[in-house]
Amino acid sequence: MIIRSAEFIISAVGPKQYPEGNQPEIALAGRSNVGKSSLINKMINRKNLARTSSTPGKTQTLNFYHINESFYFVDLPGYGFAKVPKPVQAQWSKFIEQYLSKRDCLKAVLQLVDLRHPPSKEDIHMFEWLGHFGIPRIVVTTKADKISRGHWPKHQKVIRQALQLPKNVPMVLFSSETGQGKDELWGLLAPYLVG
Ligand code: GDP
Repeated sequence: MIIRSAEFIISAVGPKQYPEGNQPEIALAGRSNVGKSSLINKMINRKNLARTSSTPGKTQTLNFYHINESFYFVDLPGYGFAKVPKPVQAQWSKFIEQYLSKRDCLKAVLQLVDLRHPPSKEDIHMFEWLGHFGIPRIVVTTKADKISRGHWPKHQKVIRQALQLPKNVPMVLFSSETGQGKDELWGLLAPYLVG
């Protein structure tokens, strides 16, 4: 994918702020700190268009990034940050749920899971929930550079089993450090990005 332009559009706190038009959107879901911002930056060859957060859970909005003036990456609020009060968490869940279940131009969700650790309960719940709503899913295992190559299959197996990954759901090994998985991921996204 040749990136001609990449622009941060808005941190939306409600549906009225979502971009108009009907261009395809690819959302990213995952725990705080799993590497969502880093993945966006790597995919579009920018050092820090997407904010990489040193304070996990601070991003409580839907962040829209317009790529090549033709589609959007939508960074969802990271879940699983224990310090966030329950009512705030409930509010986010509702907000995310509305976006995921009602947004027509949402074409697929990248679910990010840290390759080093088994998926959390929330990861599993999110993965099942997306499946339930029939939203196309791609699992991206992040921070692959932190594990030696020989151990990748073992870690992928743990994740595959915990998520009960169906055969038709792709899983991509990714590293924002090395660029591992970037071309593969663009290849998987391509069919969703046509008009
Ligand atoms: P987010 O909260 O999901 O947006 O996570 P960030 O993109 O802000 O990343 C959280 C931390 O993990 C940062 O310190 C990143 O530099 C680091 N990180 C993210 N992706 C990778 C990766 O692929 N490899 C390594 N080694 N570190 C990563």
